[in-house]
Amino acid sequence: MRLIQWQWGDALGVVPQNDPALVGELLAALDATGDESVSSRNGEPGSFRVALTSHYEITRIPKPLLEAFAVRTGDELLQRVTSSTANGELKQFLWGREIIDMLVAHPGVRFAPAEFIGLLRKLQPRLYSISSSPKAHPGEVHLTVGAVRYESFGRVRQGVCSTFLADRVEAETPVPVFVHSNNGFRPPPPDAPSIMVGPGTGIAPFRAFLEERRAIGAKGKNWLFFGDQKSSTDFLYRDEIESFQREGLLSRLDLAWSRDQSEKVYVQNRMIEKATELFAWLEAGGAFYVCGDASRMAKDVDTALHQVIQIAGGKTAEQAMEYVANLKSAKHYQRDVY
Ligand SMILES: Cc1cc2nc3c(=O)[nH]c(=O)nc-3n(C[C@H](O)[C@H](O)[C@H](O)COP(=O)(O)OP(=O)(O)OC[C@H]3O[C@@H](n4cnc5c(N)ncnc54)[C@H](O)[C@@H]3O)c2cc1C
Repeated sequence: MRLIQWQWGDALGVVPQNDPALVGELLAALDATGDESVSSRNGEPGSFRVALTSHYEITRIPKPLLEAFAVRTGDELLQRVTSSTANGELKQFLWGREIIDMLVAHPGVRFAPAEFIGLLRKLQPRLYSISSSPKAHPGEVHLTVGAVRYESFGRVRQGVCSTFLADRVEAETPVPVFVHSNNGFRPPPPDAPSIMVGPGTGIAPFRAFLEERRAIGAKGKNWLFFGDQKSSTDFLYRDEIESFQREGLLSRLDLAWSRDQSEKVYVQNRMIEKATELFAWLEAGGAFYVCGDASRMAKDVDTALHQVIQIAGGKTAEQAMEYVANLKSAKHYQRDVY
């Protein structure tokens, strides 16, 4: 066994396997047994079932496959979305649809196993921020995985890797992993104040950070903004966070539970409420870290940071932009968002 090494801020790449139940559904829809020989990812021959399980993405619909359906069915909608130069219509069509939906909706369309494989994308590893400090958990790597599950077009859908980790990996199953280093997300000096904004699974690197700071006896103050929908179900690492707070390692903790009261409250609202103090931490050389959702949270937090600087620092919008640019160039504003 080769020992892996990582630094705080790195992520772990996980190579997943697809859900065997979905592989079975695809084989049935393709009228295949799974024993057919196809060329696998490395060019070696292998069974169709193994290729669908371990080497190819079998949920999201790749454009070449959609184009093949458009040609073979002559379906007007498929022809329009695949030939449209406006990406929006294609995106809208693909949202919530998977390969199995196409096969079920067009039972007359046939693909030979090798041809089908040729239209798929290679199965990609997924990255997860490492949520443990090697000093606190030698020989272990902890991850904080949010299982992706939703319903669309009348079917329950599952994220490939998150549900592989949540449901299908047994204690003894070897899972191929690798370290993905993240040089844009590195800790401040041990005595620098640190402000961490990490709602949901965004807490992952900050749990590792706090463990690391405790292990090395770092003197810098720590402030965590955390939250999600409901405190009763979503307060990840609650016992540890409360104990970090009791010990004084976590000097400040601000929580935002969007669904615990009638009006929605998010981490960015908490930042604005604490503008004066937050600005004072920045002025004292505090490093500002954000981890988690890139689509909305990171943008809202960035806007809130600009507002904090304007409100508490008495700056104009332009001056706030300059202040933030300076934070970034001093590596005092770092993000790990996805
Ligand atoms: C640097 C980095 C660090 C990360 N750290 C973490 C972490 O610490 N914890 C963590 O949980 N994740 C983390 N992620 C995200 C993680 O890599 C995966 O993207 C995530 O687990 C989903 O992968 P999956 O294979 O389960 O889902 P996939 O099979 O890849 O499916 C996800 C896709 O499903 C679709 N989808 C999702 N919800 C819906 C919906 N409601 N309706 C329609 N379509 C939908 C979207 O197209 C979405 O892209 C990180 C990502 C990066 C890049």
